Amino acid sequence: MKDKRPLIGITPGFDYSENRMFLNRGYSDAIILSGGMPVLLPITEDEKLLSEMIESFDGFLLSGGPDVDAVHWGEWNLRFNGEISPYRDSMELFIARQAIARDKPVLGICRGMQVMNIAMGGTIYQDIYSQIKDKELIKHSQNAPKWYPTHIVKAEKESIVYNAHNKDLICVNSFHHQAVRDAAPGFIVTARSEDGIIEAIEHTGCRFAVGVQWHPELMWERDPLFLELFKVFVDHTDK
Ligand code: MN
Repeated sequence: MKDKRPLIGITPGFDYSENRMFLNRGYSDAIILSGGMPVLLPITEDEKLLSEMIESFDGFLLSGGPDVDAVHWGEWNLRFNGEISPYRDSMELFIARQAIARDKPVLGICRGMQVMNIAMGGTIYQDIYSQIKDKELIKHSQNAPKWYPTHIVKAEKESIVYNAHNKDLICVNSFHHQAVRDAAPGFIVTARSEDGIIEAIEHTGCRFAVGVQWHPELMWERDPLFLELFKVFVDHTDK
């Protein structure tokens, strides 16, 4: 473990009706167990403050959450786009761009992966089941306990995701109806499910900018293998 824990800023969820921020504890405990110091970032649209945050922190964890407003990748919101969170969109897109530009490690989980991809010029499906018609998709919104793995992803050999899990076939949980469509410039696809849906992306020009579509924060308590990606993330910080 490092002498001083690297500071990992985690973006929270936001409840507009109650004016409250929130976060699943699985994220912060995973960072603690990986040797980092998790800090919940405040919701803000102040870009000067956000720039200071990016300087002050050693890495960023973009958490899961609702859908991104399609305006951010040049589309209209179709009827099947779900709940959107304008505060999170502006804050997280800014953090993703600045962190990648400054080569600060970023881990994006579910929505966080989509935010990273959109921030760097990629696109996503607003709803995979409505927009992918040419093949049969598997179930990506599971009706099973959240920690329970329901589908396989195949990771590319020697990718960060592959190396973290030390295998190519990883059985993961799944709670998404959106997915990366075109990976942004600089990103490569490093895992897909059997139906071809993109389940992980990694930036080739950064020390660690990785997105996964599954939710390791809900799995590691039952299966410690799912802590490994958090550990690799924290290990890539400067401290
Ligand atoms: Mn899935």
